Amino acid sequence: MAFNKLTIQLKLSSKARREGDCLVWFGDKDPCGYGRIRYAGKKGYPAHRLAYELRHGEIPAGLVIRHKCDNPSCINVDHLETGTHKQNSADSVERGRAIRAKGESHGRAKLTQSQVDEIRRRYIPGKHGHGSHALAKKFGVAQSTLMAILRGVHWK
Ligand SMILES: [Zn+2]
Repeated sequence: MAFNKLTIQLKLSSKARREGDCLVWFGDKDPCGYGRIRYAGKKGYPAHRLAYELRHGEIPAGLVIRHKCDNPSCINVDHLETGTHKQNSADSVERGRAIRAKGESHGRAKLTQSQVDEIRRRYIPGKHGHGSHALAKKFGVAQSTLMAILRGVHWK
């Protein structure tokens, strides 16, 4: 480890503030709102992941860190748990993060691959209930996001 635990702890707490129960990172963030920290030779190490590793040790390969509080910027270890990628996207949709991302210019839609497939299947330009506006509303994403999905920007 490049830094000792105390150094990491200080690095993390120096750029986070309490908001309710959450410890919200206000340093550098990625477009999804996850905190980024310079660590282990990387410029953009996920801050919440580092906070989790600090307490629980290394995260097994293939697992992601999920936010129980649904706030990507939160680094409160009590709000973090491990999960799979699949659970993560299912959760986001369930908890309505996708709906809240609406209108956020940088908010990337949290849709499952099957929803993306469904959008592409249903999309018929100009047809009532099948146009981009209707589908965006149905799936709780911004119309621009939906158009990007149709163009294959986010989903190859
Ligand atoms: Zn939290």
